[in-house]
Amino acid sequence: MEKNNSGSGFKHIGNTLLHWYKNNARDLPFRQTKDPYKIWICEIVFQQTRINQGLNHYNNFIRRFPDVKTLAEADEDEVLLHWKGLGYYSRAINIHKAAKQIMTDYHGSFPSEYEEILKLKGVGKYTAAAISSICFNGKMPAVDGNFYRVLSRFFADDFDISNSRAFNYFSELATLIMPENVGDFNQAMMDLGSEICKPKSPLCEECPLQENCLAFSLQKTSYFPVKTKKVKAEDLQLTYYFVHRNGQFLIQQRKDDFIWKKLFEFLPEISEELKQFIKGVKNVNHKLTHKNLSIEIFDVEITSDAIWKVLIASNQYIISDFKNFHEKSFPKPLENYIQNSLKD
Ligand code: SF4
Repeated sequence: MEKNNSGSGFKHIGNTLLHWYKNNARDLPFRQTKDPYKIWICEIVFQQTRINQGLNHYNNFIRRFPDVKTLAEADEDEVLLHWKGLGYYSRAINIHKAAKQIMTDYHGSFPSEYEEILKLKGVGKYTAAAISSICFNGKMPAVDGNFYRVLSRFFADDFDISNSRAFNYFSELATLIMPENVGDFNQAMMDLGSEICKPKSPLCEECPLQENCLAFSLQKTSYFPVKTKKVKAEDLQLTYYFVHRNGQFLIQQRKDDFIWKKLFEFLPEISEELKQFIKGVKNVNHKLTHKNLSIEIFDVEITSDAIWKVLIASNQYIISDFKNFHEKSFPKPLENYIQNSLKD
């Protein structure tokens, strides 16, 4: 699609957007702060959760870990526990590592330059741009799905957003309309994308950009953004043994780099001797972003006190129990299984 690449013809658009944002910005608690630590945590939390669902989690996390130092000094299991309900636990692990990095490499003060923020563990271009622009007057657009959608519609641009060059392409496109105040511009685009230029049925009648929006004038808003590649979810089969006796059960912590790293799980295998105690099996289906899990959970009730004592004495397992299992982070389907076992 044709567009004016000189950029000068679009500069007023950024200011129109800022004007709209001034009067329509969502009243979110993290909008009252320029503390890079809080902005960072909220960017990570709300990348994966809708605002109203994530607010409680965000507030609880900040209450327990109010600053970088507190987070860096915390035990990893406790960080994971406070991430409960947000999923994507690898992000919590990275946040914890990055907090330690800030303490050691930056003497506890949050780096202010985009390039330095980008060096923090788990921080990508979007988050680095958001933090540097909101907190330090940085000049990088924080390009995410909202940017892709708004810009591809505004310019009626059919660049494929699943293309590996999409981020750079739309970053450049954003600079055509970007005003001086990039921090507010980034937040305005976030609000416009989620409240007005919605994926389905955009509210064009309420949109400040409508007058110049090409997709709107062509009546082709549903055509944009263009996305060709569909990521096919992988099917995955998992087996667990829920080995228990008198309200206690055996667990271990995942060490590999696969899903659920560092979370606690039931035993993925048991000896032939223990299989005689299998009482039943439950099949659970669970969807992750790119995986369809089919989980088989065997209920293994150890009815022999002697064998149970041997298992515990082996020091191979962690003992959990129905009363205190909330103190550890389990993957959602396993946590549900424990909760349902409690009801039985
Ligand atoms: S006019 Fe409609 S399609 Fe264009 S940017 Fe606004 S909401 Fe999106």
